[in-house]
Amino acid sequence: MRASQPQVTIVGGGLAGLAAAAALSSAGVKARVFERRRQLGGRAGSFWDTTAEQWVDHCQHVSMGCCVNYADFCRRTGTDHRFRRHPTVRFIGPDGRTSTLRASHLPAPLHLAPALWSMKFLTPRERLMVMSALKRLALSESGPPPDTTIGQWLAAHGQSENVIRRFWGVVLVSALSETIEHSSFAAARKVFVDGFMAEPSGHVLEIPTVPLQELYDQIAHRLSEQGVAIQTEAHVRRVYCDTPHSTGIELDGGRTIDCDAVIVAVPWRRLADLLSIEQLAAVPNGAALRDLPSAPISSMHLWFDRPAIPVEHAVLIDRLSQWVFRRPPPASGPTLAREHCQVVISASRNLAARSREEVLEEVLRDIRGTWPESRGAQLLQWRLITQQDAVLSPRPEVAELRPTQATAISNLFLAGDWTRTGWPSTMEGAVRSGYLAAERVLDSLGSPASFVQPEPRTWLTRRMLS
Ligand SMILES: Cc1cc2nc3c(=O)[nH]c(=O)nc-3n(C[C@H](O)[C@H](O)[C@H](O)COP(=O)(O)OP(=O)(O)OC[C@H]3O[C@@H](n4cnc5c(N)ncnc54)[C@H](O)[C@@H]3O)c2cc1C
Repeated sequence: MRASQPQVTIVGGGLAGLAAAAALSSAGVKARVFERRRQLGGRAGSFWDTTAEQWVDHCQHVSMGCCVNYADFCRRTGTDHRFRRHPTVRFIGPDGRTSTLRASHLPAPLHLAPALWSMKFLTPRERLMVMSALKRLALSESGPPPDTTIGQWLAAHGQSENVIRRFWGVVLVSALSETIEHSSFAAARKVFVDGFMAEPSGHVLEIPTVPLQELYDQIAHRLSEQGVAIQTEAHVRRVYCDTPHSTGIELDGGRTIDCDAVIVAVPWRRLADLLSIEQLAAVPNGAALRDLPSAPISSMHLWFDRPAIPVEHAVLIDRLSQWVFRRPPPASGPTLAREHCQVVISASRNLAARSREEVLEEVLRDIRGTWPESRGAQLLQWRLITQQDAVLSPRPEVAELRPTQATAISNLFLAGDWTRTGWPSTMEGAVRSGYLAAERVLDSLGSPASFVQPEPRTWLTRRMLS
């Protein structure tokens, strides 16, 4: 041990790295975070839009009631009051009729059954199909062979093309950011069990009321009060873990920082840039990680001269625009925009073949076709942002390749939404990975502690679903 207070260096100031820092500092460990960019938050971050003169999130980020570790992290960092809970999820069919997903008074796992039964964009026969498949999905924990996609499973369980596209596809593409042809049965089952069945608030949306950047300002402030040192614009060039007495990182420019343990919390494609061949060999499936497949997400930002969207958010069925959010407009700025809205298109590979203007036209058609009041609003500014490596694709073959947070080197650890967390690549997965990495570090220091929150289940669902 280098000093009386153990020192841990964390590479990467995304949610995984920040969650690890929060957990370690609460256990009396001195944590230092080094982030390459000027802003914290990584993929769940914001940028300063010079035209709109406001912080703009790269993409709208949404948490759900089942994301208990992300909620725990927000409580620890004093940001939980910056979210609004939305117990109702609104779906708007191609005919403009709205269906709402809201918990009834029935006990879990049946609490959403009445809402599902009244989905107007499905026929009564299709609703029965959904109910029956949901029951089978929930009760088949051992499931089909591990290489089965949810698309294959749904086809084998009598789901029509329409019901797959309008219900299963809509929910799963939003939750997993991947198409049902590519998503594993196991990942899809997790979405429906945790979000729809395990307990009555699993599906409740938690949407930040401020740009994500404001959350990171508060997180950085709270962590620094807890003794965490955060350095941004600090590009880590390499990690050294040669012996327990020679462990640390080297920054661009050659400065080295010694510590007792390193947590590498960078995206999976960046890991090999930081580790030597020997270190990478100590990571489970280390050599294969760079090639793990990703899924893209696109976000269309629209600024209108007047209120255009009458609801805070809505899922659109059978449209290119999957999920529309109304965001707080800029407080000032040259555009005089009165409305800022974000349209999310997950698994957006098909957009690559189209021009940005074509995509804009279709998104505007979706909005104007859905809300007649938007037709008079003038578009002042727009942006289309696509992140190609938005998330790790939840393909069946990927699950086994995700490494644990501990490596074969006793003081080298990993965190990130792509590590083995039991969760898909999400903010919840990232925070879980940070907590798990902190737990493994503390194990290695001989001071075990537990941070990961148990998955919420009611008395009944604990017995029925695992
Ligand atoms: C467009 C989009 C929409 C999404 N929507 C949602 C959503 O609605 N809900 C949800 O739950 N999840 C969503 N996600 C997923 C979520 O953003 C991620 O799962 C999560 O943010 C990953 O966090 P992370 O810390 O594991 O990785 P990252 O956020 O990628 O953080 C890694 C950090 O490491 C830094 N870094 C890399 N190399 C170095 C280096 N050499 N030195 C120092 N620092 C380095 C990076 O700059 C980055 O800040 C979305 C993702 C995207 C891209």
